[in-house]
Amino acid sequence: MTVPADSTTDVLRLGARHVLAVTDADGALAAVPIVDPDGARQRATAGSGAADALLRFIAEHPGRSRHGRFTVVSWVDRYSPGIEQPITVDQTNESVIVGDRAVVKWATHLESGPHPAPRRLATLTAAGFTAMPAPWAVLTWAPGEGPETLVATVTGYLPGAVDGWTWAKDMFIAAARTGDLTAVTATCDTLGAVVADLHAALAATVVRSTPADARRWRDNAFTTLSEARALAGPANAALLTEHADAVAATLESLADLVDVPILDAHGDLHVGQVLRTDDRLVITDFDGNPVLAPAERVLPVPAAVDLAGILQSLSHVAIVAARRGELDPVTLAPVDEAARAALRNAYLGRLAQTGHADLHIDTALPALRLQQVLREIVYAGRHLPRWMYVPDAALPALINETSS
Ligand code: ADP
Ligand code: MG
Repeated sequence: MTVPADSTTDVLRLGARHVLAVTDADGALAAVPIVDPDGARQRATAGSGAADALLRFIAEHPGRSRHGRFTVVSWVDRYSPGIEQPITVDQTNESVIVGDRAVVKWATHLESGPHPAPRRLATLTAAGFTAMPAPWAVLTWAPGEGPETLVATVTGYLPGAVDGWTWAKDMFIAAARTGDLTAVTATCDTLGAVVADLHAALAATVVRSTPADARRWRDNAFTTLSEARALAGPANAALLTEHADAVAATLESLADLVDVPILDAHGDLHVGQVLRTDDRLVITDFDGNPVLAPAERVLPVPAAVDLAGILQSLSHVAIVAARRGELDPVTLAPVDEAARAALRNAYLGRLAQTGHADLHIDTALPALRLQQVLREIVYAGRHLPRWMYVPDAALPALINETSS
């Protein structure tokens, strides 16, 4: 594909044959790799050498450097060439594996506005947090006026990494079939400790919430509630009406989160963000919560936002496992409960061990879990109708759990 020069807003030269271009096609911003910039200007794909050129570029520019409106933060200073291969799983952006060592992610769906990843990765790296793909580099670009946005990230490649919608689903199916919860509790123990370590590493960013923060969280939750009411299937719509007072009271509690510790959290933590390799669980995707406006994605939140996100996602895994494993949902209930209990206990234990017990706000969990289910309804209603069976089962279960 030829990339016309007139859609190009800015370029970063990566070497003799490649550039990283920021393009603007009728307001749709993208960061795209281009091969042969002085000639045919072809869009680079895996195999054209642009990702490899970027690896050479970041090795030649260790530390922080400015290149026009681009900023490069690189944690590497060595380069050796590698063969490029595409990542073919479902993805929003475009990732290329280079030499089985690094993953280059081009931000082909760029959004203007600040981006949370650069600061979070820098904080985590400075704190020595290792349960994430090793950060190699972050490249940002700032428009004439306005905040920097992310154009590319480079991380260490994790061979054989599988994301949690797969590994947790398979683990839940096996546990439901055999009744043996050992693997589930052991894995969720580890995961709880990893999440606590993540928060301990991000604790350098802690500030306290203002009344305006609490009001915004509460108002956002009520906006999500009205959207969810409009998009829910008939059973959930009836349930939201029947329990309207209790649901409102639960969400209203977010307004009480004034003067509580908040931090640069992960922001979009669920099992799909947890990659599993042979011997490790690692957390990926520090891009923030896509349902929030970019300006809000970078704001600090209570640590409980992440804990609620990952706990509720375990209940969603249980629902997916019942369907995919063709199992009676009743057989998944003890698996779901054991998984959540193990994760929560391990999280709280490790958080206390690291001296950060005060980051946890237990009273916020019901509202945040409920908000997560409501967001799933909105997401399924707008983008992925075949996902609706998950909130269809999750909402009654959650209402049942909180009212008992
Ligand atoms: P996107 O924002 O485009 O969805 P992600 O960062 O979520 O991109 O990555 C998409 C997929 O690529 C992940 O689900 C995972 O399967 C794979 N992946 C991402 N980073 C790595 C890595 N460092 N090592 C191995 N696989 C990775
Ligand atoms: Mg992703």
